[in-house]
Amino acid sequence: MEQFDVVVIGSGPGGYIGAIRAAQLGFKTAVVEKDATLGGTCLNVGCIPSKAMLESSHLFHKANQELAPHGIITGRVQVDVKKMVERKAKVVQQLTGGVAGLFKKHKITWLKGHGSFKKPGEIAVRAADGTETVVGAKHAIIATGSVPSSIPGVTIDEKVVVSSTGALEFDKVPGSLVVIGGGYIGLELGSVWSRLGSHVTVVEFQDKIIPMMDESLISGLSRVLQAQGLEFKLKTAVQAVKVKGDRAEVTVKSGDKTETIEADRVLVSVGRKPFTEKLGLENIGLKPDAKGFLTVDQNFRTSVPGVYAIGDVIGGLMLAHKAEEEGVACAELLAGEKPKVNYRLVPGILYTHPEVASVGQTEQELRKAGVSYKKGQFNLRANGRAISIGETDGFVKILTNADTDEILGAHILAPNASEMIHEFCLGMEFNATAEDIALTMHGHPTISESIKEAALSVHGRTLNA
Ligand code: FAD
Repeated sequence: MEQFDVVVIGSGPGGYIGAIRAAQLGFKTAVVEKDATLGGTCLNVGCIPSKAMLESSHLFHKANQELAPHGIITGRVQVDVKKMVERKAKVVQQLTGGVAGLFKKHKITWLKGHGSFKKPGEIAVRAADGTETVVGAKHAIIATGSVPSSIPGVTIDEKVVVSSTGALEFDKVPGSLVVIGGGYIGLELGSVWSRLGSHVTVVEFQDKIIPMMDESLISGLSRVLQAQGLEFKLKTAVQAVKVKGDRAEVTVKSGDKTETIEADRVLVSVGRKPFTEKLGLENIGLKPDAKGFLTVDQNFRTSVPGVYAIGDVIGGLMLAHKAEEEGVACAELLAGEKPKVNYRLVPGILYTHPEVASVGQTEQELRKAGVSYKKGQFNLRANGRAISIGETDGFVKILTNADTDEILGAHILAPNASEMIHEFCLGMEFNATAEDIALTMHGHPTISESIKEAALSVHGRTLNA
């Protein structure tokens, strides 16, 4: 039986990044992956393919609707969904192949097959052809991630009623699409198909979309997505989804009113659940919690000595960058280092257009906690770069401690918010104040100047509005 210092089960961003860090630290490392390619949800059916489809659909929408004001005259722009999906597959292939290359570089063994614990310190790997290999693991890291959830009575067939995975693979633009759930996955994939021509109806049980975000982002994003043609049915519960031939009927209830929406496709995006199926947890005496998550202490230790868990399977914010940070920290802890994941500063991003990005606390949270805070905001309609590129929908908002000026939260709606938010992430890691940002020279003309202006606005000193 081959013996490893570290065996990681699952090659998503948590697992593969954790394995690379473990190898860098000198551990003999292996990763067990049951799927044909490395990279997990994120690279295969999550972050990366969704961003590829968002970019393609954005270009189509831009070519159709936004070129004429620039004096660019095109004929009718058409979409070739097959080609778009093929391009997405190539992007995925490049990145998953890249992980395989990184494994070679770092001498990490890829154990191909389904991993399960035989007993503490021993992991069986069952390959697709049924052969089983058992390896020894001084330390085992469970990074088995998550899979899409559904709602009672709704069966996902990945044809008419799809999860996010199916919604990345439609062979043509559905005439109509019902998206169940107004979270980040539903809104991103709803945007993709809406831009390509679908009539998209988002059904959300709560009274708002992206409820975890700052209220200004909720109202700002709702307004722009509605202007883009997405229809929202809030405070509305899905009662049933019936497939009839190649279409579906979605019965929804809002207050006393029940109605049926017919749609070509239905996307169920109501969240994700942890995945620990056939992992042999019973063989090592490890029991998931009531929701299926694995419980760990602050050092990612489960209750079983030598067994750790990271990423989506331990819950918290189910995001790739959070999983990666945990992978790195877990490997460093095994090497006796003292890393810390700063859960206060996990950026949350939606790749709609404009994008939404947020870090730290929301205004609702500060009010609820009774913190005395100040607010600074700068709207993109007064930003030179935003006007020159025709992207004036959005703002930068900063929340600071009223006594110390320390930044407590930052919330951005802007075309490149996903890139801009990291100025705040870095600043807040160093306990920056609004004054620190306001005193920092920002290049002109950039949308990032709105960050400086928002910081100035905390002290009533905005220059361009
Ligand atoms: P996963 O990526 O889920 O990987 C787990 C891996 O473990 C899988 O490869 C699985 O096959 C393997 N595995 C499971 N059990 C076993 C076993 N017993 N034996 C062997 N292998 C096993 N996050 C972001 O931060 N930004 C985004 O823009 C973003 N967009 C997303 C878009 C979509 C459509 C989806 C679905 C998700 C998105 N996410 C995004 C979330 C992100 O994908 C996850 O948070 C992230 O992948 C979690 O990483 P992980 O390593 O914990 O697990």
